[in-house]
Amino acid sequence: MSWFIRKEKGINTPTEMKREAPDGLWYQCPNCKKITPTREHKQNAFTCPHCNYHEKVGSDVYFNLLFDDNEFIELDANLISGDPLGFVDTKAYPDRIKSTMKKTGLKDAVRTGHGKMNGLDLVIACMDFSFIGGSMGSVVGEKIARAISYSLEKKIPFLMISKSGGARMMEAGFSLMQMAKTSARLAQLSEAKVPYISLLTDPTTGGVTASYAMLGDFNISEPEALIGFAGPRVIRETIGKDLPKGFQSAEFVLEHGFLDFIVDRKDLKDKLTSLLSMLK
Ligand SMILES: [Zn+2]
Repeated sequence: MSWFIRKEKGINTPTEMKREAPDGLWYQCPNCKKITPTREHKQNAFTCPHCNYHEKVGSDVYFNLLFDDNEFIELDANLISGDPLGFVDTKAYPDRIKSTMKKTGLKDAVRTGHGKMNGLDLVIACMDFSFIGGSMGSVVGEKIARAISYSLEKKIPFLMISKSGGARMMEAGFSLMQMAKTSARLAQLSEAKVPYISLLTDPTTGGVTASYAMLGDFNISEPEALIGFAGPRVIRETIGKDLPKGFQSAEFVLEHGFLDFIVDRKDLKDKLTSLLSMLK
């Protein structure tokens, strides 16, 4: 075994000779732990080619995926949050907003835009979970309400992509009012017979589930998304019983009649296009 014995001790590569593997070339799936090149993962609409796990993505990805050539007019891009309650937790709310804007490059937890999807006009409101857990405050509610009014005025179908932990506690009652406001606008859209499709993605919970996310002419979801109102722990403590397996998964919710269908993100554009063509 003499060939196996290291002649010199230690590793003697000088620092300038060391090569580092560049970051971001590989994606490790948190579900099946398998590795995929980042580029392939992106081409696959950020779903795992091995187990089809749908990675959480933001509005930029959905806009790029759905709008032809990623061309769209962003609506109310500069609406930013006030601090109606002077709220302070570990940080003052305005400071939290400012640091989150800097970190994410977003202005709040939803972006709205008008563009074409396979040639069909479409208004999309898409939530960003990276902005304070996709929480719904006044700006989120107002931007969604305005996007619905825009749809109504121009008679263009409306797609809502939800991803949210629920109402924003820093705005307390003001957040809760957004539920009524957006729901009322959606009722107007419905009266005018303009189609509304709600896509629920992982996770959609709290006041968002309890308002606009469940009011679609079609309520659809990505596979295995967490969909619920209160979290499983709160429910377990309230009813004092263990919950069934897979409780609050998109598949469970579909089986119990709350969803119309589940759509793979890779098929989303085609499915939405045929659905909207039928509703025209
Ligand atoms: Zn996987």
